Amino acid sequence: MTDDQPSAPARRGPSRPVRRLATRALLGSAAAAAILTVLVGSHSGNAAYLGGPKSLEPTDQTSLAALPPAPPTDAAPTAQPAPVESTVTLPSGGTLMGLLLDAGLVRGEAHEAIIAFSEVYDPRRLRAGQAFTITTLAEDGPDAAPRLTGFSFEPETGLTVKTWRDGDGFTADAEKAPLVTATRRAGGRIDSSLYVAATRAGVPPGVLAQLIRTYSYDVDFQRDIQRGDAFSVMYTEKTTEDGRRVADGDVLFASLTLSGATFNLYRYEDSDGIVSYFDEHGHSLQKGLMRTPIDGARLSSSYGMRKHPILGYSKMHTGVDFAAPTGTPIYAAGSGTIDFAGRKGGYGNYIRIRHGGEYATAYAHMSRFAKGMGTGTRVKQGQVIGYVGTTGRSTGPHLHYEILVNGKHTNPLKVRMPSGRKLTGTEMARFEAQRTQADRLYASLPHDTEMASRVE
Ligand SMILES: [Zn+2]
Repeated sequence: MTDDQPSAPARRGPSRPVRRLATRALLGSAAAAAILTVLVGSHSGNAAYLGGPKSLEPTDQTSLAALPPAPPTDAAPTAQPAPVESTVTLPSGGTLMGLLLDAGLVRGEAHEAIIAFSEVYDPRRLRAGQAFTITTLAEDGPDAAPRLTGFSFEPETGLTVKTWRDGDGFTADAEKAPLVTATRRAGGRIDSSLYVAATRAGVPPGVLAQLIRTYSYDVDFQRDIQRGDAFSVMYTEKTTEDGRRVADGDVLFASLTLSGATFNLYRYEDSDGIVSYFDEHGHSLQKGLMRTPIDGARLSSSYGMRKHPILGYSKMHTGVDFAAPTGTPIYAAGSGTIDFAGRKGGYGNYIRIRHGGEYATAYAHMSRFAKGMGTGTRVKQGQVIGYVGTTGRSTGPHLHYEILVNGKHTNPLKVRMPSGRKLTGTEMARFEAQRTQADRLYASLPHDTEMASRVE
């Protein structure tokens, strides 16, 4: 290896541009590149990045070890060109090549680096606004272009794509940060809607959707919010070791206080491994059917006689309408079998599900059905069956939702739901032990002081 050649330590000494160029010519570009890596790694204080992923470190260390110890005079502050690190953002319509050329690199070198990068990450997936950290090293000579040491970017939290100089060329790697599970607690007063209050308290959207879906069996979110209504929630999330959120976890516990009534829910995995939510007495929150089989929608028309918005005369409205943007997912309100999926006159794209016993539900005006939905398809409660649209006789994107009992239309917001599961015996004892644990964990977690002070 060239590292032990006498000329190598000269690169660590005071700046001697002429000599350095000569050394480079003698050693050839591969050796020069190796030396550069060592120099940058030992002087920049950022060896972890510049050295690339962990697998490369032994090589660097070997190189360093092979170098004779530097004399004390080596430490002259202006001795070495320092690596220059800059963070740049991909502009709209910009390219990685553009960024590297803007950093002053020559096209051939930038091209080589991009080829290495492309083996790990498809450049077509790059988006405006993504930030790149580019490290270069000044070359000698007034007009010399800097050399690229490497660049890195984080396409998503916890994932870093690095490209670095490796011998004669470049190498790239994608590194996933190790993840940990964090348990969090949030809460506050509900002024306008649970959605607004929970978002303000920092509850992630996926956790909030879970919360609303679970409560949708018992709580009519279209109702007026009363002064003093409040919520609290304990949930998990996957984070990087430095606490940045990567993925949503589960709601472990939640409590809603609406008009003085408190609704608690606990996540419970039974001895068969089936997870569902129960109130503190072991009653399942998952009733036969959901009253609102859609997230974040606004009730735009209720059940009963009304003046028809298109036909103009009074007509029975046989369901409820939820206004939501086109493409919003629609859930199966309960488990069952689809007995109709297709075009149906004024209903447009329409699905009806038979839930066994006396109940059926229907969903109209969908823009499209979810994959695999057809007559005879078995669906599970909460499964996406289609997406909001405005097909058929409709004035704008919304879900028209119907519940039929023994073939007769009923008001989905008023109908008595088939009851859910009740835990008993050893299963109830197991649940109570887990509930106590959850209560203890909740009490031990720090809560957001700002939000806590708002709870009345
Ligand atoms: Zn309708």
